[in-house]
Amino acid sequence: MTKRYGQAIAVDSISLKIPAGTYCCLLGPSGCGKSSTLRMIAGHEDVSDGDILLGNTVVNDLPPARRGTAMMFQNYALFPHLDCVDNVAFSLKMKGVGKTERRARALDMLRLVDMQDYAARLPSQLSGGQQQRVALARALITGPSVLLLDEPLSALDPFLRAKMREELKRLQKELGISFIHVTHSQEEAMALADLVVVMNKGRIEQADTAREVFNHPRTAFVARFIGGHNILQDNGRTISVRADRASLAPPAAGESGFAGTVRAVEYLGSVVHVGVSRAGNGAAEADGFLVAIPENRFFTAPVAPGDPVTVSWKLEDVHVLEE
Ligand code: ADP
Ligand code: MG
Repeated sequence: MTKRYGQAIAVDSISLKIPAGTYCCLLGPSGCGKSSTLRMIAGHEDVSDGDILLGNTVVNDLPPARRGTAMMFQNYALFPHLDCVDNVAFSLKMKGVGKTERRARALDMLRLVDMQDYAARLPSQLSGGQQQRVALARALITGPSVLLLDEPLSALDPFLRAKMREELKRLQKELGISFIHVTHSQEEAMALADLVVVMNKGRIEQADTAREVFNHPRTAFVARFIGGHNILQDNGRTISVRADRASLAPPAAGESGFAGTVRAVEYLGSVVHVGVSRAGNGAAEADGFLVAIPENRFFTAPVAPGDPVTVSWKLEDVHVLEE
């Protein structure tokens, strides 16, 4: 499908099949077309070209409420004057479900997200994380086969983010439905997704498991965006070498490498990042080369900025990127 806003192309003839019961993350930098894609699936935005199918049904022309999808918004959009139960029960009320039944079903949903003890509270009496759980329950009460989430964790502090991440994954597996989750965080996508869809400028660069994307990034863009990779020109081709597969030892037989100078050392706890610039290659390799060394190994032979070093990697760890 394609999305045009006037002359501008936001989503450029992408094609993607998401198996039922998949946790799918749309990953990419700001402006690459993730939200437009999600909003088209939800029915909040028209498709300029192409079709969206849920199972065998083309849903392009169905209103959002009849697609079998539900959307959880970034700002939660809870009704401030309704308590948790009535917020969650709202869509059932619109459908004409009686008060007793809809409140019972809403309570079930609040139980699912572990918010049953807060049923009578107003949104203003809840923390951000709790509001998010209520928003989740409100989206799930419609019984969608696909839940759409646009940057659902970005408003939370890092600790809560990690906790909610676990909960989202647990919920998705428990319900057995597909989640399509938009994020610009590669860490979030890798932690959650069965299927990582890396987008760039309205196109899909790669759609694979997290492990496949990390081990076999298709393009330099994917390798850069997913992180932990060094991208180099090597005999007229572009290659990537994982930072954790490189070392500060002289190249042995069957290995490649270069001499350089330590530019920066970052202690990150379990791992130490050593940035190296290649001798005589200053401006040409502005990015530098990153070597990620396990903490205990680093401190057996520590280096400091300015030290001359040799970087090496095994030829089997060279990954060739597409142009
Ligand atoms: P992302 O969610 O990946 O940050 P978006 O899908 O929001 O990206 O936006 C993709 C592109 O489309 C951007 O260049 C953005 O400026 C543009 N865009 C998004 N929404 C609109 C709109 N309603 N009108 C015009 N341009 C838009
Ligand atoms: Mg967006």
